[in-house]
Amino acid sequence: TILSQRTTQQDEELAYQELRQLGDWDAIIAAPTEAVAHAIRRSNYPESKAPRIQATLRAIRDERGSYDLDFLAELPVKDALKWLTALPGVGIKTASLVLLFNYARPVFPVDTHVHRVTTRVGVIGRMGEQAAHRALLQLLPPDPPFLFELHLNLLRHGQKVCTWVRPKCPVCVLRARCDAHAIYGNNVPSFGEK
Ligand code: SF4
Repeated sequence: TILSQRTTQQDEELAYQELRQLGDWDAIIAAPTEAVAHAIRRSNYPESKAPRIQATLRAIRDERGSYDLDFLAELPVKDALKWLTALPGVGIKTASLVLLFNYARPVFPVDTHVHRVTTRVGVIGRMGEQAAHRALLQLLPPDPPFLFELHLNLLRHGQKVCTWVRPKCPVCVLRARCDAHAIYGNNVPSFGEK
């Protein structure tokens, strides 16, 4: 999940495959950080991700005695989020992705696309991604399959239609319900400009 940050799915996968060629998780912790950074170079920001991945693995092993995170499936969601976000380099988005995608827990990851689309449409007001996690979760039903699908659909919509610059409003299915379109018509400014 750390590898996926600001990285395409294809590059994330390539970085992961090469990372795992360094050996098991113990071997990855023990490897020189430069070797880990080199292995994950297809992911963006490898120099900052490599030490974070090693520190996160080390913290999981030291606290749990293994790398198994399946206990998160049983913890109350609040406690599971708290446990994950206490790990070095794991924020609310990464923690939410792990819990929703791996353990079907009722949380809602807000990445840059989800944040942009929900803000422009007017589901939430202007706020940072961190605050948007709380705001959206309060509005949404605690239904993991629904949250999973909504996350993927908003992500795809943000990648393909409601892009950061020059969103494709004329072909957007949300046009009639979109606050930004109501204000700016087909000339919605780049996200963050207005
Ligand atoms: Fe984005 Fe335009 Fe669609 Fe609104 S109408 S969601 S700004 S593409």
